[in-house]
Amino acid sequence: MIHRIPDYWRNLPVYLQLKGSVCKKCGAKYFPPRKICPKCGSRELEVYDLPRRGKLLSWTVIRYPAKEFEKFSPYVVGLIELEDGVRLIAQITDVKEDELKFGMELRATVRRAFEEGEDGIVRYTYKFVPI
Ligand SMILES: [Zn+2]
Repeated sequence: MIHRIPDYWRNLPVYLQLKGSVCKKCGAKYFPPRKICPKCGSRELEVYDLPRRGKLLSWTVIRYPAKEFEKFSPYVVGLIELEDGVRLIAQITDVKEDELKFGMELRATVRRAFEEGEDGIVRYTYKFVPI
């Protein structure tokens, strides 16, 4: 069981530190990071730190999630546009449903993920909260 921990930590740069990739040729940005640019075909992409602030473009309140997430419902999942234009989907927390507004400013924060892994290790993930 312990041997699985290194795998988890190795994945942290992507899942927790919010890394994207930017094409050195055409400047296109991607999240999650890509190795080949779909726009221009270049393989010269560089990993970079995504901005941790953005605005809310749309959201959904999940009331009937998959069985393993039932105890967390309802929860909010939003489409967020980061300051550099990269869009991603993430859970939004620390906000009431009726306080959600289009274009509201959000920032990324690290929180305990929904579920513990099958090995019982608590996972962390990024979630977005109002500024
Ligand atoms: Zn490109």
